[in-house]
Amino acid sequence: MSDPSPTLAPAFVHNLETCVGCHACVIACANENGLAPGRFWRQIVSFNPSHIPDLPVYHLSLACNHCLDAPCAEACPAAAIARDVRTGAVLIDDTKCIGCRYCSWVCPFDAPQFNSDAGVMEKCTFCNHRLLQKSQPACTSLCPTGALSLGTYGEKEGVSVSGFPKAEIRPAMTFLPMRGRSPQPVPPGTALPDESQIAAWMIPDGLSIPESKISLKSEGPLAIFSSVALALVAWFLASVRGEPAVVPGLFVVLGVLGIGLSTLHLGRKERAWRAVLNLRSSWLSREVLAYSLFIGMGWLSTAIFPQIGLIAWAAAALGVFLLIAIDNVYMAMARDWSAQLDGQASLLAAAFIVSVMTGNALMSGGTAVVRLYAFVDRIQRRRKNREGTRQPGWLSLFRLIIGLVVPAILWAADGGVSPAVLACVLLGEFADRLDFYDSLDITTPRRSMLLDQRSSR
Ligand code: SF4
Ligand code: SF4
Repeated sequence: MSDPSPTLAPAFVHNLETCVGCHACVIACANENGLAPGRFWRQIVSFNPSHIPDLPVYHLSLACNHCLDAPCAEACPAAAIARDVRTGAVLIDDTKCIGCRYCSWVCPFDAPQFNSDAGVMEKCTFCNHRLLQKSQPACTSLCPTGALSLGTYGEKEGVSVSGFPKAEIRPAMTFLPMRGRSPQPVPPGTALPDESQIAAWMIPDGLSIPESKISLKSEGPLAIFSSVALALVAWFLASVRGEPAVVPGLFVVLGVLGIGLSTLHLGRKERAWRAVLNLRSSWLSREVLAYSLFIGMGWLSTAIFPQIGLIAWAAAALGVFLLIAIDNVYMAMARDWSAQLDGQASLLAAAFIVSVMTGNALMSGGTAVVRLYAFVDRIQRRRKNREGTRQPGWLSLFRLIIGLVVPAILWAADGGVSPAVLACVLLGEFADRLDFYDSLDITTPRRSMLLDQRSSR
């Protein structure tokens, strides 16, 4: 994506002192862009809306910040996001968007919003049509106090503020400080409140503390897809090493089912083919292409040309690349936290399954220890991050007992890898994948404000 000269790029300037949280900018945006009732591209995130004494009260008016290093455009697999170099606006092309929602997972500012009627993402356009006519965006022109205005990137020195996630992506937004008061939420010496009080201050009446945008419930098909993908790669790699041999029919049926499942969450399924159009920068595009080629080559090498080893090795290489791509898709997300070894979650899971399938006791023991470490680390970090909210439950227990403890006991008792051992390992890795999805806490301004509060206690 073209990177405009930073000194010329338009940017929002937000004065923390003069913003009164009146929502005029939110309504101006909705009116200007003809948004249906209840849909908003701009939001007000308030700290201390109950005006508790001795704590600052401030409001953030937030939408897309048209970041100079926009990760949404890099990550979009359909090449549907681009910058208008005339104005600097980062725009979603709704004729190209496939509704995969990935842009909202890599944006730390909760800017892209899913339009369930159209099946595509939408967000603030910087009022590009107005910028092209040398007019201001509706939000800045209608702000009654002048708190939200239009400037250029870096023209004024700003401050960092709780609720605006720190991200190295050069958002075109500058916050001007509050006079005589720190914009940081808790001044030194303030008696610190408990968790429920903090939540009550930050969250307007009737709303609960925001959960992560991703949950097992919403992304179940993707969790199953990635489990199928890593199990098929492990099976194929084990077969290249000798045993167990790939059954071509079953392999291809599972492969097709997997890709079918992965399209279930798309808003525009008929555009699924567009998912491979951004190989240059999107790991999601690379994942989709690698998966398709791996299934095709794997089937060719086992069903049609079993005598040509080169095809099998090419499929094996594609399988390994697929695992790397899957891991990178999740590492690119804007997350509140991630566990150590998350960046190799699929690779390590596949290595564990391969070692069990091939009956390699030494490698199985080693990879099992690494899997156990990764699992415990994830649980500990999640517990810290979600203090006072939901905690891991039966899934974690299942993963530990069925996926690691029982196979070890059965292997020792049987003196080798029985079908029961392999079944337990596969079930355990599937549970681990579900648990991994459950831990994908995507950063948003509201969550960021809450976490800043916690870390200052
Ligand atoms: S604020 Fe979010 S959607 Fe807007 S350009 Fe930055 S990363 Fe993309
Ligand atoms: S294709 Fe996906 S990542 Fe790209 S704009 Fe649409 S929802 Fe966002």
